[in-house]
Amino acid sequence: MTATALPGALAGVGPRTRTTATHCPYCSLQCGITMTAGDRPATLQPADFPTNRGGLCSKGWSATELLDHPERLTRPLVRAVPGDRTSPLVESTWDDALDRLVAAIERTQARYGRDAVGCFGGGGLTNEQAYQFGKFARVALRTSRIDYNGRFCMSSAASAANRAFGLDRGMPFPLSDIAAADVVVLVGANPADTMPPAMQYLDAGRVRGAQHVVVDPRRTATARSAALHLQPLPGTDLALANGLLHIALAEGLVDEEYVAARTTGFDEVEAGVAAYWPDRVERLTGVPVADQRRTVFALARAERAIVLTARGAEQHRSGTDTAQAWINLALALGLPGREGSGWATVTGQGNGQGGREHGQKADQLPGYRSITDPAARAHVAAVWRVEPDSIPGPGRSAFELLDGLGTDGGVRTLLVLASNVAVSAPDARRVVSRLGDLDFLAVSDFFLSETAELADVVLPSAMWAEEDGTMTNVEGRVIRRRRALDPPAGVRDDLHLLAELAARLGAGHLFSDDPETVFEELRRASAGGSADYSGISYRRIDEEQGVFWPCPAPADGGRPHPGTPRLFGERFATPDGRARFLRVEHVEAHEQPDAEYPYVLTTGRVLAQYQSGTQTRRARSLQLLAPLPRAELHPDLARRHGIGPDDVVELATRRGRARFSAHLTEDIRPDVVFAPFHWGGASAANALTDADALDPTSRMPAFKVCAVAVTRVAGPVERLPAPDAATQPAPRPHEPATAPTPRPPSRRRTPRVKSTPRFLQGVYAITGEGLDKPGPVDPALRYTVPNGASAQALYFRGGNSTDSLVYALLLRDGVPMRWFPIGAKGDVHVPLRVVEDLPGGTLVELHAAAPAGVTGELVVDLGLVEV
Ligand code: SF4
Repeated sequence: MTATALPGALAGVGPRTRTTATHCPYCSLQCGITMTAGDRPATLQPADFPTNRGGLCSKGWSATELLDHPERLTRPLVRAVPGDRTSPLVESTWDDALDRLVAAIERTQARYGRDAVGCFGGGGLTNEQAYQFGKFARVALRTSRIDYNGRFCMSSAASAANRAFGLDRGMPFPLSDIAAADVVVLVGANPADTMPPAMQYLDAGRVRGAQHVVVDPRRTATARSAALHLQPLPGTDLALANGLLHIALAEGLVDEEYVAARTTGFDEVEAGVAAYWPDRVERLTGVPVADQRRTVFALARAERAIVLTARGAEQHRSGTDTAQAWINLALALGLPGREGSGWATVTGQGNGQGGREHGQKADQLPGYRSITDPAARAHVAAVWRVEPDSIPGPGRSAFELLDGLGTDGGVRTLLVLASNVAVSAPDARRVVSRLGDLDFLAVSDFFLSETAELADVVLPSAMWAEEDGTMTNVEGRVIRRRRALDPPAGVRDDLHLLAELAARLGAGHLFSDDPETVFEELRRASAGGSADYSGISYRRIDEEQGVFWPCPAPADGGRPHPGTPRLFGERFATPDGRARFLRVEHVEAHEQPDAEYPYVLTTGRVLAQYQSGTQTRRARSLQLLAPLPRAELHPDLARRHGIGPDDVVELATRRGRARFSAHLTEDIRPDVVFAPFHWGGASAANALTDADALDPTSRMPAFKVCAVAVTRVAGPVERLPAPDAATQPAPRPHEPATAPTPRPPSRRRTPRVKSTPRFLQGVYAITGEGLDKPGPVDPALRYTVPNGASAQALYFRGGNSTDSLVYALLLRDGVPMRWFPIGAKGDVHVPLRVVEDLPGGTLVELHAAAPAGVTGELVVDLGLVEV
């Protein structure tokens, strides 16, 4: 195989080299690079592409190291004893490997039906590969069981955007708008570590005087450079957003003209956020009222303002609603659809956006079409040259697909492309156990990932620099991944693999292994869909530094569509053109800290690693930067457990144990532990995470919050020991899949909640019986919270006309809650911001005490709010 001349191929620097314009293989920023290859090893330079403008992070710089890595797979691997996964993996031929895979597919489908064969894809596949994988599942395999790891990443934001705007494109505006915004609020986003070159847009804004607010339980590198850092408890971002909207309403900051002209559903949201008064939100989130107010006023007074959410806000059991809460706030302030303003989500994986647009998701067909829509099925069927009825219906979401492996009604033969679910899936030990229940597992990857190690057949695939295709970046810009060098002999790209498999399954005439041919078909399949690529071509991408979708093909003889860098300027993509407010409520995390697991574990990414680390853990330069996985602990928490810097700590949850090197930092809350999820084995953070609480809309697992215990294991080491196998909890056994029901909010409400003030107040004569003998003052100073409602005490004011110290006593169901001493002839005012909720049926009383024989008058005023 030889590399062909491509539009992106530039002059080489020597007779046997050539330079190719392409993109970094990792995150969704898709930084432009130029690669010089021919005489290996290949080298790269950052390019002046609109997303990175000459910048590159350490991951991008290291990308060429892996092309010649000694652990690179160059031959298919099969089990020495077919069917026995305890036998070693040995090198084989493509024919043998594909024969085994096709035989397994045919055997499984003959015995258990078509849906017993499943496909699992990745957000790193090109658009062409993702499209081909979706088509392969539905046309060659005729199975509904396909999903991809983007379900673990961006699906909650996607669901929220579809609900609110009728369209899911991560950023509905170009990155350059961030530099133009006067205020940017980043919620659970840490671009300084995950996509450093993007920081230049924030930096440019800051130079102009823009203010940035970061909402994150950790004081991340992004938070350190912000004007304001809000540090909520993980899992409370929704309450915070609702609280900010409550303040905006109370302060008259809502853009009423915009709300009336461009949205629907505001009244319901207005009623809902009435329950999120600032003191309550401070108690739920830990964000001080003053900081809440500062954030809302900054957003509302800015000429241009942007709210960005990312995985920190979205990877929760209520991730869709959390994203919606921030969208509600942005809509109320009139931001979406205005230049330099709006709401967006920062997509994560390199092609997480395109991967979900073209058919890898269980419920979608190309062009972001719904697989249940008869018209969409008919359109795509015509392009695929099959009958609409032959296209299966919706399958299972990613975790549900994995959790059902090997069961009746579940998948028994699985083909995995570009995904390392043994590390990246939640409750990973359970997923590994499920993979073991399969009849047959085939994995295509560059390296022997933790998932590939478990496979019957491992297929070596081409890496990013060895293949052609398109990617869709964080902005919705469709760009070219160009082939800069040939793959090693014996290595094929996934497009070729799928075409070959389809041929062996009798559908070869419907599949091509040529990227541009597949893209041409993808264009037609997407025409008329939400994600319409029909006006995009490889030539246009080359000439225009990418093209933003939607970009429909022109009518006959018409002018080419320019693409759509900014969405929603005139109308939203809903049937009535208006954005939809939706009332959403705070839901407690599925797992709360308790005596056994007293802290909150949150997981995330670090600067020098990417996703499951299959690639970046093998890059030597990145190893030097981050040799060990480090768990972040607050020094107070560490002191409590006798943990010193760099000690080995074991994190334990109900699902598993994993070990990390301790990084003590005051940048994290004392009640929260952070662990990076890029490692497997002894340090698999996802061995700890909770998969039993999926978002009811997006089916996103709750990666970001679970309860954890921390213990010190040993002093600093160079290599982390594995947890004692005997102490590892058994993975949860199979059980019938059910749709998890979210727990109701901690307080019950009627559909239209109004908060009602309640007061225990008046002037009362008192006669002291002794300071140690408090007693009731008056029957009027009793209040029972009505059933079905809840209340919270907000403040106490008191005045004392006597010449002695007296005190008032607040009781809850007869148990003292607060004492309020009032000096002689004095008065007090006590804000009660952190008093707990008082559920329906609670009896609240005020008593008083004075020295024996002292008489006089007591003025009391206890303010409560009832919801
Ligand atoms: S990992 Fe992301 S930010 Fe870093 S170089 Fe690659 S595309 Fe750019």
